[in-house]
Amino acid sequence: MSFENLNLPEALSKALQAAGYTEPTEVQATAIPPAMAGKDLMVSSRTGSGKTASFMLPALARILAARAQPQNPANRQRGPRVLVLCPTRELAMQVAKAASDYGRFVPGLRVATIVGGVPYGAQLAALRGALDILIATPGRLIDHMGSGKAQLGQLEMLVLDEADRMLDMGFIDDIRHIAAATAPQRQTVMYSATFAGTIGGLAAELLRDPQRIEVSAQTEAHGDIEQRLHWADDFAHKNALLDHILTDRAVDQALVFTSTQRDADWLADRLHEMGHSVASLHGGMPQGRRNRVLQGLRSRHLRVLVATDVAARGIDVPTISHVINFGLPMKEEDYVHRIGRTGRAGRSGLAVTLAERRDSGMIHRIQRFTTQRIPAATIEGLEPKRAEPRPLPPRVAAPGHKPGGKTFGPRPGGKPFKPAGKVFSKSGPRPAR
Ligand code: ADP
Ligand code: MG
Repeated sequence: MSFENLNLPEALSKALQAAGYTEPTEVQATAIPPAMAGKDLMVSSRTGSGKTASFMLPALARILAARAQPQNPANRQRGPRVLVLCPTRELAMQVAKAASDYGRFVPGLRVATIVGGVPYGAQLAALRGALDILIATPGRLIDHMGSGKAQLGQLEMLVLDEADRMLDMGFIDDIRHIAAATAPQRQTVMYSATFAGTIGGLAAELLRDPQRIEVSAQTEAHGDIEQRLHWADDFAHKNALLDHILTDRAVDQALVFTSTQRDADWLADRLHEMGHSVASLHGGMPQGRRNRVLQGLRSRHLRVLVATDVAARGIDVPTISHVINFGLPMKEEDYVHRIGRTGRAGRSGLAVTLAERRDSGMIHRIQRFTTQRIPAATIEGLEPKRAEPRPLPPRVAAPGHKPGGKTFGPRPGGKPFKPAGKVFSKSGPRPAR
């Protein structure tokens, strides 16, 4: 399959050539034809599989088609033809960059980004002019709609990127509100890791007779990402393992995940003191600083980024060779998103998880979710003294874990990195058996 089979307008083929793309990815080959035909789609495909182009190319084709008919009165519109909703600011910026990359030969293309955490002034100016594509996070867009500045009445195409994540972040009512302000005959394309539960309900509300495209299951997703699991005896051991991994010359750039913002800052400080070129990235930082940090990563001034899940969502930096889980995610599906930050654009990557014994419940849930065992590994001289925890029997809570409760969370007293284990003996009753 080549891009020629997709019958893209010349301006787009040229841009793809300039980007060095030789053939469409699977999700592009499958989703672009029905999207160009105006169909509603629900798409699930692994991270790094090229979803952005799969909606952006049809969106740009629409804009080109409208440009070709200047006499049509509908073309004197002001509001955007295409709206892309994204969960985070970082992701919105990346989609905007893709819009200008893939749209570089579209004459006079007007793209605006509306995200929180930045001043309103430039956004208001962008909304005042005529617009082709608007890329937004739901919260800030709602603000602009409330003041009448964002007009969506002439919208032709609505894209929900990472819809599952937007729901996790509590945006469901915002999404409904935004969709209700658009023309009902619009085309809607929705991307999500899953279409079960609430997300399926939202799809049923917003999509008309959608075609469902499922490219590859999460379980087949990471052929080019090697996964390893290191068991740590305690917190000091976990730090020693991290330090050893980061000094490996094979690390091009590393993304280290922590569970909380405080942990991210703490760990970045510690690694900085050791001499690493490192920064933290989390949702508690002002947008300007977040942008500078990402820029530092892209320009390779930073070798290590310590981030939380929300901030790292959607980061596409092809030179990330290692993802290291220093703190486990709160939800098993976030593991898949985390490791998808490496092995981008066909490169190979290594995803290393550092786990203490009390993390074994979450490790088990991750393995059940991906239906894969993460192979355990050791480092010479840093082998764990305690035996590897035995795999848990399926669907039975581990002893010592509250039923249904999280096995990992903010540490007691809000202090980062208090090694657990002393907690029960000091302050709490032993868990019932
Ligand atoms: P997803 O949204 O599925 O996680 P992206 O759209 O962010 O994936 O694309 C991941 C990476 O793959 C980007 O660096 C992008 O430039 C690259 N890419 C996308 N399509 C192609 C293609 N057809 N050929 C080569 N690289 C591609
Ligand atoms: Mg994406």
